[in-house]
Amino acid sequence: MFMETIKEYQKDNFTVIWKPGRCIHAGVCVKTLPEVYNPKATPWIKCDKASVEALKQQIDACPSGALTYREF
Ligand code: SF4
Repeated sequence: MFMETIKEYQKDNFTVIWKPGRCIHAGVCVKTLPEVYNPKATPWIKCDKASVEALKQQIDACPSGALTYREF
């Protein structure tokens, strides 16, 4: 059975969810918020570097659906 890889990055009660198998490497995330998304760093997503509003706007612009988020 295929199990999709899902990575989660937490910022208070906001979670960025990344599904690497869906990423089409369009680079929208890196261009929009380079302080958050750095493919050469570990972890490559540092969600404490931007506001939740900025993260949401950027995630909504991800063309592939690889990036989503959850709030609770
Ligand atoms: S914006 Fe979405 S599809 Fe583009 S590189 Fe980032 S995660 Fe991948």
